[in-house]
Amino acid sequence: MSYLASNGGIYLPEQVPALDRSKLKDLSTLPYWELCYQLLSEFIEEDYLNHSDFISKNFEDFDDPKEVIHVTKLQGGLKIAELYHGPTLAFKDIALSVVGSLVDSLLEKKKKKAIVLVATSGDTGSAAIHCVRKMVNADIIVLYPKGRCTQVQELQMSTVQSPNVHVFAAEGTSDDLDEITMAVTSDTAFAEEHGLMIFNSANIGRILAQVPMYFYTYYRLCSIDSMEPLEVIVPTGGCSSITAGTIAAKMGLPIKIVPCTNNNDVVTRCIQNADFSQGSHVHHTYASAMDIQSPYNMERIFYMFCDGDGDLVQDMMESFGSHGKSVIPSHVYASMKKVIPESYSANDEEILKTMKRCWDENSYAICPHTATGVSFHYAHSPTIQRVVLATASLVKFPDVSRACGIPMLSNPRVDALPQVSPQVPIMKEGDDWEALLRQKIIEITKQRSK
Ligand SMILES: *Cc1c(COP(=O)(O)O)cnc(C)c1O
Repeated sequence: MSYLASNGGIYLPEQVPALDRSKLKDLSTLPYWELCYQLLSEFIEEDYLNHSDFISKNFEDFDDPKEVIHVTKLQGGLKIAELYHGPTLAFKDIALSVVGSLVDSLLEKKKKKAIVLVATSGDTGSAAIHCVRKMVNADIIVLYPKGRCTQVQELQMSTVQSPNVHVFAAEGTSDDLDEITMAVTSDTAFAEEHGLMIFNSANIGRILAQVPMYFYTYYRLCSIDSMEPLEVIVPTGGCSSITAGTIAAKMGLPIKIVPCTNNNDVVTRCIQNADFSQGSHVHHTYASAMDIQSPYNMERIFYMFCDGDGDLVQDMMESFGSHGKSVIPSHVYASMKKVIPESYSANDEEILKTMKRCWDENSYAICPHTATGVSFHYAHSPTIQRVVLATASLVKFPDVSRACGIPMLSNPRVDALPQVSPQVPIMKEGDDWEALLRQKIIEITKQRSK
């Protein structure tokens, strides 16, 4: 239930099950929730999967619970899989809505309670709040960097009124916040005592719950009878999505994955040059949810291409951790390239240009993250079927919308938000944030035992 393996590595399913042709065919006509249930049951004991949650609960807050992902076809062979029709208008809803009920029933069975900790600069916080809000056996504490999220994101986090949701605004960066949540969760005795959990992009449940996105999108566009290949262009930050895509490919789905990054291009250099190395610092870009220089999920991807040589991957990650770089052995690189043949990085200028072009040609608005993927499409004509994953709605990023001259769009979910943030407790500069966090955790546990 925690996310760290005891040897310091991160969890992966022991074996990625390969699905045969007839199974792939059987799955192709299922509605999203059933497809999701069936695929997860390949990894998780059915005892822990509550079928009725998939039918009526997990996706109830989506625009259309039956059509969780919408596929749109635009000019010039551009196809977009819209993953942002959940309650917080970003693709993290897709996985977290499933993880919430999964963890809740696990806690119920074990008669345990948990406290979910999230440090966030953007989409994870609101999506995690919306998922934990519905949980019976968990509380959530979210720390967000004051003034560094968009107003919509801030409102999405601060306006949820629920006794198990606790939000703090801190006068620091998300890296500072990461550090204190790490410090608190790595105190194992304390973490154990209070049932601390992390729902960040390293959470294995979140990754598995993204695998169905790839299957569903494939089935909307391609014929499984001929095993038609599909190129999936994926805006990438912490790499949870491309890890899920790699798992889908290993299961037998005929897809190629093209990760796209912003100026934080660790993954792009890794795929293009076998150079897995950090840049000097995190660049702040329009695609802020992808402002990451430590894509630790790459460990899982390397593992899936190393023929089970866990020691090799451990060495690579240790070198990345301590020197900020690591060389990918040629056999690992070669097999990785078969599934992830290329990658692309778009800077802020290109992001704006692409958003504008897509708007002008199609009257269709894409968010800055999605624009990294569409930039790849504009730079390279497709040779096989191609789809770009759209990871958020532009309405969450009005400033970027303004910067590139796309008219401000409205959305009922945003319109429904209160216009002013309620009072959120602030962690001030100079306060001992770690002590404040520990105090809140202890308070929650105490409250429960009353
Ligand atoms: C989190 C996020 C990403 C990056 O996702 P990863 O799977 O962690 O690489 C991209 N776009 C948006 C809008 C996000 O919220």
